Amino acid sequence: MSSFRPSTPNQITSKTIGTLYAEMLRPGSARLNLKPIYQRARCWKKWQNDGLVGSIMCGRVIPLFAFYKLHSGNEDDTTDYEAGIRFECVDGQNRLSAIAAFMSGDPIVNSKGASEPVVWNTPAGPKHFRDLSEEEKEWFTNMDLPISIIQAPLTLTQRKEQFTCLQDGSPISQPEYMRNTSHPVSLFISRTGLRDTFDAVVRGPMTGIGDWLVVLADCITLYLHRGDGDRFAMLNRDSSRLKRVISCKEPAVADSPYDMQVTKPDDAPLMELFDSLITVLGRVKDKKVKYHKFCVVVLFNQLLVGGEVPPVERLLTWFKSSKAIITDHTKAGGRDVALYGILEADLAAELPPPPAPKPKRRAIPKKKRDELWAEYFGVATTGVCQCCKGSIKGPAGGNWHQAHIVAVAAGGKNDLSNLVPTCASCNLSCGDENLSDWCEREWPEAPFLTA
Ligand SMILES: [Zn+2]
Repeated sequence: MSSFRPSTPNQITSKTIGTLYAEMLRPGSARLNLKPIYQRARCWKKWQNDGLVGSIMCGRVIPLFAFYKLHSGNEDDTTDYEAGIRFECVDGQNRLSAIAAFMSGDPIVNSKGASEPVVWNTPAGPKHFRDLSEEEKEWFTNMDLPISIIQAPLTLTQRKEQFTCLQDGSPISQPEYMRNTSHPVSLFISRTGLRDTFDAVVRGPMTGIGDWLVVLADCITLYLHRGDGDRFAMLNRDSSRLKRVISCKEPAVADSPYDMQVTKPDDAPLMELFDSLITVLGRVKDKKVKYHKFCVVVLFNQLLVGGEVPPVERLLTWFKSSKAIITDHTKAGGRDVALYGILEADLAAELPPPPAPKPKRRAIPKKKRDELWAEYFGVATTGVCQCCKGSIKGPAGGNWHQAHIVAVAAGGKNDLSNLVPTCASCNLSCGDENLSDWCEREWPEAPFLTA
């Protein structure tokens, strides 16, 4: 798998809904491509479309959108750029089309082909945008939406990789969540800061990673305010159900405002991680140790970074010691971020040692690449992917990749006998797996297996 780092960092910005609509979302506007080819079909249902409008009208924090900025000189962008497209939606397609439909009044066509208007469900009944009062319209259109703009020119394959990372996290390992600044968790926390993250968590942002923070907030609230019925009323949750979630007797499922649910792995990139957190918190709870929400967020982030569940004994020590740190720090008027740093360092001392680093990937010298190409295709400039049999171009300046039969991660070397010419897609999809294993499963007829 490629772990490229773009040449230009992402830019975090924001636009009001009104501006975004006028510039990019209005019917007929071509500036923003909501459906680049790597995007899935729109999958939201009516209650989700309406729920987003309701969330905005309630002033809830909406998680980051990710746009890719097109470049006139970038080969993969040329056609779209000439058609007037300047941005591509990498994350937020469902949310943006719901907003566009609500404002324009044009219904959304659902997967069964039926047209559904997007409305704001009020106690008095559904309201269309045109029915809003001037103040309500102003409220809605002045709401700021956070946007991360990918500035570096990327190929479509790289954009697909970014999209996949944002959607289900599968191609990147957990430690990469925090390093990968385009992941919604890192973006959300790095953009809003800890204090506002807590605030957003308690108020309950509603989509994607926001749902996970909502469930996290529920756990925190439940632990901090056991038996406090009003808190649950505020969060619009059922306490007995949350207790079941936390005790892990059933999969992590929780209602969020407007009945948004965290149920499918597709919607829940961090399901496994979150389950780990729940399990650990459940075990700690058995020992009757109280903890502060700071601890929970630090622990959550540590799990993101290391992907390791700390042993409960060590956590107990940490929870006990951090209580004093939090009290001291808060009295001293310290900032959340500083406190977070202290707790994080303190927790690190209680965590198991980090796993050994992966073997380093070394660039394959040009001479060896040329030799590999010549071995398979002689002097031809077109070859065949040794997995999927797709056409590849080489040796110099082509689109071919050199895949490792025994993966670098498994100790495979850059020897000619360990390298096979493939297309980019096969090499990237294979990831850190041995090509031989991956290919046997995905392309049993692969030339290099049968040769
Ligand atoms: Zn291929």
